[in-house]
Amino acid sequence: MWLGLDDTDSLDGGCTTLVFHELLNSLPCEYGEPRLTRLWPFAAQRTRGNAALSVELFCDESIVEWLDQYWNENISILKGEISESQHSERKQYPSDPGMTLFSEQPDEKYYWQAVRSQAGFVEGGYQWGGQGRIGAAASCAWRETSITWEGIAWRKDERHVSDEVLTNVENMDGTFLCRDPRTNRGLIAPRGPCPVMFGVRATSFDVASTATNELLSGSAPTIGNRVFKTNQASGDHIESTKTSIVESKDVIEGGHVIINQSIICFSESGPLNKLSQWLETGDLIEFMGLEYEGKLHLEAMRIIESKSKIRPTCECGSTMKSMGKGQGVRCPKCRIKSELSWIEIERKPMIEGWVQPPADKRRHLAKRLASDPKS
Ligand SMILES: [Zn+2]
Repeated sequence: MWLGLDDTDSLDGGCTTLVFHELLNSLPCEYGEPRLTRLWPFAAQRTRGNAALSVELFCDESIVEWLDQYWNENISILKGEISESQHSERKQYPSDPGMTLFSEQPDEKYYWQAVRSQAGFVEGGYQWGGQGRIGAAASCAWRETSITWEGIAWRKDERHVSDEVLTNVENMDGTFLCRDPRTNRGLIAPRGPCPVMFGVRATSFDVASTATNELLSGSAPTIGNRVFKTNQASGDHIESTKTSIVESKDVIEGGHVIINQSIICFSESGPLNKLSQWLETGDLIEFMGLEYEGKLHLEAMRIIESKSKIRPTCECGSTMKSMGKGQGVRCPKCRIKSELSWIEIERKPMIEGWVQPPADKRRHLAKRLASDPKS
């Protein structure tokens, strides 16, 4: 059986990861690895982070009665809370929890739909609640094509992790996105009222588990912890990269850059925004991002080719000058003519290869592209 849960985020501690952790602790049967799946970031009525949870249960349909009671007593009551968001301009929806139970994993297509677009409800199985059933079912349908792990601990009261243990964890092979290299600020702890103490990302279960225990040794009291298998850093939300020749570039108010009137690079994107501003007409770029309301929101880009034309230089060192339209160029001093009116030189971008926004401005799903194993 496959159990899914989504959309229980609320101001008073109904974070979906914690609700799921408590559900797993109470289950009367054995279960597999808990899974945390991030879904399409633009989904309507999404909750903070848009994470859904799922797990394989080793039981038969007799679990339905137990789940029914657990739902009524512990989860359905979380409906209707407005979740806290750091993006205050974004419309907030009240949480609308959903739980699903399937005898077999739903078709894989439901996962791909829900990670790349606005998805709908999945038929079949046993379902409880409202909007959250979409993410719950999509999480059940995830086939783990690209995985990372995250160790999460939930706080008892205050949120505190010592900087010393964070450094130890940051230096472990296999952890990533622990600290923002530009600001030196830790990236493992969320802000706001959410009950998460920390979430530490890793490329294997063992590293996530070791890192979690290390962080717990330097944390304020917690009420529990668990390692989740995740689709974070999988890049699953983007089907493929695209290439384009730059035809126009507009820098608009606030420093956002619009390329070819269709690709938007936000000012918060740091080096990616700088690279966008550097572009010139005729540059060949490869890029990826999500389309939303007619614009592609840029998540990564690399320069394939950038050339600029300059006038040839004379042997004397002077720059050749045009003699008039269609008349060629010549040296203003020696009067020597050149056969070439223009020569092309290669422009070198300030950063070679793929460029992404800074660590704290990336999506949870964003693929790890940089050569730095820690980013
Ligand atoms: Zn000359």
